[in-house]
Amino acid sequence: MDVSQPPRRYNDKRKEYLEWNDYFMATAVLSAKRSKDPVTQVGACIVDQKNRVVAIGYNGFPRNCSDDEFPWGKSDAKQSLEHKYMYVVHAEANAILNSNCTSLDGTRLFTTLFPCNECAKLIIQSGIQQIYFISDKYEGHTATIASKRMLDAAGVLYSRHVPKQQKILIDFAEFLDEN
Ligand SMILES: [Zn+2]
Repeated sequence: MDVSQPPRRYNDKRKEYLEWNDYFMATAVLSAKRSKDPVTQVGACIVDQKNRVVAIGYNGFPRNCSDDEFPWGKSDAKQSLEHKYMYVVHAEANAILNSNCTSLDGTRLFTTLFPCNECAKLIIQSGIQQIYFISDKYEGHTATIASKRMLDAAGVLYSRHVPKQQKILIDFAEFLDEN
């Protein structure tokens, strides 16, 4: 037995574990990676009061509306039939619509981008209480101002997520038996 080394203690918990909010935001970020939108990938994750993930979503076309047939472009006017705006379901809306629980009352929403006014309506009506976001890049745009106006009126809290860990690496090889 090597006495120069202190005995390894398995009773102590790992120090570098993910804290809850980083974990939930990372889930939103991972969901965003499913998006086929060539310009903006957004992910959302909804969590209940027991820290259970009850919904995730990303921006995409409705079910059975093929990513290969519908346009992902936005070069034409917003009202054009060839503008993605006509067809895309936002990440927050997808999360709300695909949640696996009957009520989202009192839940928290983690989203990579500040919700637009249309999503704010759904957020308020579904009972989501708090929003954490990373980017607010459309701050100052009419849709964002309208969104904040409604969220403020409805008492839905929102704040920028400040990550404890700047980077989280996913390395599948780490979990291979050979390592
Ligand atoms: Zn939206």
